[in-house]
Amino acid sequence: MKVFKFGGASLKDAAGVKNVASIIERFRQDPLVVIVSAMGKTTNALEEVVAAHAKQNGEAQALFDALKERHYAIMRELFDEGDEIFNVVNDTFVEGDWVLEEPPSDNYDYMYDQIVCMGELVSSRITAAYLNSVGLKTQWLDARDVVATDNTYREGWVIWDKTKANAQRVVPPMLAEGNIVLTQGFIGSTSENFTTTLGREGSDYSGAIFSFCLDAESMSIWKDVPGVLNADPRIFDNTIKLDRLSYKEAIEMTYYGAQVIHPKTIKPLQNKNIPMYVKSFLDPAAPGTEISSDVDDNYPPIVVVEKNQALLHISTLDYSFVAEHHMARLFRKAADLRIFVNMMQNGAISFTICVSNVQDRIEQFINDISDEFRAKKETGLELITVRHYTQETIDSLKKGKIVLFEERIRNTMHMVVKNVPVIERREVEIAGSKA
Ligand code: ADP
Ligand code: ASP
Ligand code: MG
Repeated sequence: MKVFKFGGASLKDAAGVKNVASIIERFRQDPLVVIVSAMGKTTNALEEVVAAHAKQNGEAQALFDALKERHYAIMRELFDEGDEIFNVVNDTFVEGDWVLEEPPSDNYDYMYDQIVCMGELVSSRITAAYLNSVGLKTQWLDARDVVATDNTYREGWVIWDKTKANAQRVVPPMLAEGNIVLTQGFIGSTSENFTTTLGREGSDYSGAIFSFCLDAESMSIWKDVPGVLNADPRIFDNTIKLDRLSYKEAIEMTYYGAQVIHPKTIKPLQNKNIPMYVKSFLDPAAPGTEISSDVDDNYPPIVVVEKNQALLHISTLDYSFVAEHHMARLFRKAADLRIFVNMMQNGAISFTICVSNVQDRIEQFINDISDEFRAKKETGLELITVRHYTQETIDSLKKGKIVLFEERIRNTMHMVVKNVPVIERREVEIAGSKA
């Protein structure tokens, strides 16, 4: 059995859905479990609905209706008028309407998950119905009947033994009947049957969860790039496609922010030695990138840029050394607030950490430790990670940047940088200069 995952970019419009069907058609000889994300930028649009509902600014329903209409427009291109799918999708959207009719929950993250899950629910319904309409026998599966999580809304932690038991009970009989099994990425459910999400871009991770639990032969994720490149093509020209990557290399890249794969995806696959392929949905015959074990350590420089970073320079109020018990407290606080510490450096009287500058949480952190620590925040920074660096790559990356923090560990170098400020030329008369 193979697992395929199709992301938002591959399902952004009716032509995308048709293309996905043609890729599945090409591989139909293998039993397939297909995971889909929300269509195009639907999740961003749903986040706006949630924010409007929380603010009660009267815009939530109109935003939600516009998003429904975008789905209906795609469906009108794929199905005849009066097709059953229109009722099915409508019934799903009605559940969103009900949430919006209620006053907003005090628990923002809980409310977020109940609304944002709509994107995957409808895209999976539409794709499954389309596959059936072109003769690819498909069984729609609610991922919430399989993926069991705790109740950390927006970042659900998978309960593996339960998820595995669910997957092994539910999926094989569907496959045995000759179905393609099609389900949602990104969503799961608590033991009380409330919907959870796994974190933004979490559908890749869902693919890995299903692959792990069902002992898949391989997992393929279909993207709008030819494979994993040695840098983000939106930032750099002249990128190189990596034909093969080790699990370890892929984990390092994604941990430091390579956005092509969700960071949690690789580990479950590595544990079961399941190869993963990153392939282009625009060129399905091309080999893409294979991620597996035992790959030669012969890589070009690989660059990962993580934006929106902040440095926190922390010192004690009583001028004592920053000792282990201080760090224990600081890390506990960071963990509680789900602040990700990407780099750290400790000196005698100060401790510096580089964190993702998640809105509000950093302020909360500084405030919560203020009885014992002073923290100075520097924002608008980038964390650049270079694996297998050469001096030439580093020099070119440093152009136009001020390096605030730098660390080299064997073949990895990290630097926190900011742009050199552009000083505008101003026509100012400096005393005496015109004399
Ligand atoms: P999905 O449609 O599955 O959600 P994403 O948009 O999340 O796909 O991921 C694919 C995008 O990741 C590409 O379009 C590319 O711009 C970006 N990307 C960032 N870093 C890399 C990299 N190292 N290699 C390939 N693509 C990358
Ligand atoms: N739709 C979700 C998101 O955009 C999950 C995913 O696409 O991976 O974050
Ligand atoms: Mg994505």
